[in-house]
Amino acid sequence: MTPPPAIAVLGSTNMDLVAYVPTAPRLGETVTGSAFRTIPGGKGANQAVAAARAGGAVSMIGAVGADDFGTQLRTALADAHVDTGGLRTVGGASGIAHIVVDDDGGNSIIVVPGANGTVGGLADGDDARIAAAGALLLQLEIPLSGVLAGARAARAHGVRVVLTPAPAQPLPGELLANTDLLVPNEHEAAALTGTSDPYKAAAELLATVPEVVVTLGAEGSLYAARGAEPVLVPAPRVQAEDTTAAGDTFVGALAVASGEGRPMPEALAWASAAAALSVQRAGASASMPYRHEIDAFTG
Ligand code: ADP
Repeated sequence: MTPPPAIAVLGSTNMDLVAYVPTAPRLGETVTGSAFRTIPGGKGANQAVAAARAGGAVSMIGAVGADDFGTQLRTALADAHVDTGGLRTVGGASGIAHIVVDDDGGNSIIVVPGANGTVGGLADGDDARIAAAGALLLQLEIPLSGVLAGARAARAHGVRVVLTPAPAQPLPGELLANTDLLVPNEHEAAALTGTSDPYKAAAELLATVPEVVVTLGAEGSLYAARGAEPVLVPAPRVQAEDTTAAGDTFVGALAVASGEGRPMPEALAWASAAAALSVQRAGASASMPYRHEIDAFTG
């Protein structure tokens, strides 16, 4: 049997604090909620759990705080069989996302980076962790200097760099120059290029990165590579219950499939199946499917 693909993730871990309310409070107002949940999240940790469940050997690089949330976040990753040797515990609070969800499914979110804000560069051992991987997954919930340091290290070791440009923000040219695959959703693609047409956005992004996947929610995903016609990969039709972290599930599964050497169209179809399974269930990391479920779904 071939060993599972090694994947490193450099990024955020957050505790999501989710309050469910009939109507979100306005400033100065107090409302009574119907439920409250604490759910391990953060785009980095979500991609790590998704890749591990999809069958990758995953190593997480980042930081949690010296608080109870930090302990819980570390445990959640370890329970998902993610190697947490690169997850530092730093003084102060863990990152949190304070989320209010109303009865219409609309939400408002406050992210307080906490420990994630300390990941401004690589620490001892991180370079070796990245070098040992086939791919490095990056997002933008840690300081850009940290993202850039990871991308540089990966490029130096010939490790494939997969960047999810979320939350949307202007990207330094050097980061794009060190990125092999950029995976924006349609809003991020529009923010980066100023065009809401995903075909045009992908074509424009190919000027700076060799491969782009624009995810299009229920419409699927658009794959574009230099010198080839773009390919639209439809998403399986499912009843969506909760689309939180659909993109992170997609990226984690895609990294595993590509790490196994599967051609992109096949890898994208498999990642779409993983994401479609996740949107049918509630909860971000809780909803991420295991490899056997993705295989069963794709037949
Ligand atoms: P993000 O979660 O980052 O905003 P998207 O909403 O584009 O990203 O979703 C990422 C991927 O998840 C899509 O490309 C698609 O494969 C899958 N997906 C998202 N929503 C649905 C849905 N309603 N039905 C089926 N697949 C979905």
